[in-house]
Amino acid sequence: MTEDVVTYERRGATAVVTMNRPRYRNAQNSAMTYALDAAFTRAVDDAEVKVIVLAGAGDHFSAGHDIGTPGRDVDVSFERKAVLWWDHVDRPGGDQRFARESEVYLGMCRRWREIPKPMIAMVQGACVAGGLMLAWVCDLIICSDDAFFADPVVRMGIPGVEYFAHPWVLGPRAAKEFLFTGDRFSAAWALERGMVNRVVPRAELESEVDAVAARIAGMPQFGLALAKKAVNQAEDQMGLRAGMDSVFGLHHFAHAHNAEVSADPLAGLDARSMKRATGGQ
Ligand code: ZN
Repeated sequence: MTEDVVTYERRGATAVVTMNRPRYRNAQNSAMTYALDAAFTRAVDDAEVKVIVLAGAGDHFSAGHDIGTPGRDVDVSFERKAVLWWDHVDRPGGDQRFARESEVYLGMCRRWREIPKPMIAMVQGACVAGGLMLAWVCDLIICSDDAFFADPVVRMGIPGVEYFAHPWVLGPRAAKEFLFTGDRFSAAWALERGMVNRVVPRAELESEVDAVAARIAGMPQFGLALAKKAVNQAEDQMGLRAGMDSVFGLHHFAHAHNAEVSADPLAGLDARSMKRATGGQ
C-alpha cells in the first residue's frame, strides 16, 4: 500500500503516467485519482512535455473503480479539485454519494479532458467501467489486440458509468448494445465503431504509442492545445456535456433506488460478481 499508485516518467517530449496497482488490475481508488491528477499537473507544468500517455501497469489497463480491494477508500475524505462542493463523507445517503461522484468521478474526468496537451490512452487487457472513463478522457486511444471494453454497471441497475460518454464515443446504437448486454467487446469491435484509433499486436503497443506521440510532438504546442479545444467544443455542441449532466441525475436516481430496495447503492454486487458476469474468472 505504500508503493506509488501512479508512476511518472519522461521520455523525450512525452510524459508517461502509469496507473500502478497491477495486483488489482489498476482498480481506481481516490488515492490513485489524486495521484493521477498530480502527475497530469506535473506534465502540464513541464514546458518540454508535448504529449501525455496514460498507461496501466501489468496485464490490464484498468478494471474500473475500486469496489472491493483492501485499498478501497470510498468513505475517506477526499480533496476538492474539480468542483467546490462539500465532502460530507460522514453524512448518509445521496448527500454523501452525490458529493463524491460529482468531484471524484465526473468532475475529475472533466478536469482531465480539459488538459491542454494531447493525451493518448495506451490500453491493454481490461478497460472496464470506470476504466472506460479514463480512456475516454484521453484524446487518442491506442490499444493492443487483446484489449477488451465493457460497462457492466447496468447489472447494478445503473445506466452506465458516471462519465456518460457512451453515445458520443460509440454512436447511439452501439452504445445501447454495449450497455444492454454489459458484455466484453473486442478491440476490433471498438475500432470499427471509431471508439479507438488504432489496434496493434500486444508486443508492438508501446512502440506504436511512442511513434504516434513523437509525430504529435513535432507540432506546435499552442496549435495542439487549440485544436484539442476545438474538437472538444464540437463534442459539447453535439450535446456531450449537457447530456452527461442529465444522465448524472438518472445515475444518482439509480443509486438511490438501489439503496431503497436493496440497502446497497451497488445492488449487492461487488468486484468479483461483476467480473464473473462479464465473462471473467
Ligand atoms: Zn455512481
